[in-house]
Amino acid sequence: MREFLEAIESGASGDEIGALAVPESYRAAVVLKDEMEMFGGVPSDDKDPRKALHVQDVAVPELAPDEAYVAVLASAINFNTVWTSIFEPLPTFGFLQRLAKESVWGKRHDLPYHVVGSDAAGVVIRVGSAVRNWKPGDRVVVHCNYVDDQDPSAHDDAMLATNQRIWGFESNFGGLADLALVRANQLMPKPAHLSWEEAACNALCNSTSYRMLVSHNAAQMKQGDIVLIWGATGGLGGYAVQHVLNGGGVPVGVVSSPDKVELLHELGCDAAIDRKAAGYKFWKDEHTQDEAEWRRFGKDIRALVGDDPNIVFEHPGRQTMGASVFAAARGGTIVTCAATSGYMIEYDNRHLWMKLKRIVASHFANYKEAWEANRLLATGKVQPILSAVYPLEQTGEAAYQVHHNLHEGKIGVLCLAPEEGHGIDDPELREKVGEDRITLFRRHGSH
Ligand code: NAP
Repeated sequence: MREFLEAIESGASGDEIGALAVPESYRAAVVLKDEMEMFGGVPSDDKDPRKALHVQDVAVPELAPDEAYVAVLASAINFNTVWTSIFEPLPTFGFLQRLAKESVWGKRHDLPYHVVGSDAAGVVIRVGSAVRNWKPGDRVVVHCNYVDDQDPSAHDDAMLATNQRIWGFESNFGGLADLALVRANQLMPKPAHLSWEEAACNALCNSTSYRMLVSHNAAQMKQGDIVLIWGATGGLGGYAVQHVLNGGGVPVGVVSSPDKVELLHELGCDAAIDRKAAGYKFWKDEHTQDEAEWRRFGKDIRALVGDDPNIVFEHPGRQTMGASVFAAARGGTIVTCAATSGYMIEYDNRHLWMKLKRIVASHFANYKEAWEANRLLATGKVQPILSAVYPLEQTGEAAYQVHHNLHEGKIGVLCLAPEEGHGIDDPELREKVGEDRITLFRRHGSH
């Protein structure tokens, strides 16, 4: 893949890039099937992604007619790579076996290794015979909705497709590698004013937050809405805050340190709650929640913004869902896409039905939503929230940081890119948007 890097960095044309030979193997971050029992009996918190994630050479898979090879300059860590690397709640090899049953092309994915990663920025180096809109040399970012466009269930909202998958999690050949295999309908133009690693960190979390808050498929935020955002400087939350501010809403960010409160203020979110300092104990013990604590939390929100949240942006799950349902305003919406702290959820249904609240489920984003979310980045209306960057060889360490909540925003991973800062094609737009805004999390992360 070195030849591709040299060609890309020296400004070679698409034809020149398309004429280079694709190698037989490439460097990739993988988990191994014969290690999927390695953490047997170990508590979740002690399962160590650094032990399970390896960087090794793997064979380049055959290219299907509707696919492209992308030379990956940079990628990013998502929480799904943490799940894969601790084999929870299930080893992802089961997903690959299921995909293998679908077609001859699906069969390629069922291997003794799983190349992980659900974000990437890079350059198209080959396209299959059925690809119309993309060609070698195109600078792209990849979104992770892996969907079969020959299935009728995919044609109202692709996220409702019966065999919808997340690339690099429920499929093989993901983005934490020097090469990625993607369907053509995962490609989007790379925001020209961003470096490779700044461009690579957004698609998964930014698109998910966009669908949860903005799209007609989920909470449909409107001007003036108060939006309570859990993990407001985390991967999802860092974009959610920006979407709420852009849409004329009032974000209330929950975080867990004074440093993160400061970051929220710099991001433009005035109302911030430090959940650690407040010491909320929503669960008295493993089985019993404490309504008095929900009430104290609700009062704290009202004290900051004068009212209850119209929307609660949920993803921590078991630890917070009871409080989220309680705190939402009468008629409000709790929009959820995850359950980091546990997926068996408990809340008091009386607070839901008597006050006509609703819980709305959301999951990643369809192509249109991902494209619109990407356009917000490309036009400088949403900023990347990259806070740290690791080389591909240290993917395990980067995933460890996310597993233990030691990070802010997104952690980027350099794949082919030799160092940070390469790949900026539109310095004028960059200057217009403002270096300070683009690098806010990065500067904060290096404190
Ligand atoms: P992240 O970068 O780790 O951020 C999550 C934030 O949540 C943390 O920064 C932390 O913030 C907060 N948090 C963690 N545990 C908490 C708890 N027990 N109570 C309250 N707050 C807690 O992760 P992410 O990328 O935002 O992803 C969050 C979850 O969403 C993960 O489970 C991920 O798998 C899932 N996800 C789902 C989709 C989808 O399409 N369905 C897409 C993206 C992510 P503080 O410590 O500062 O409060």
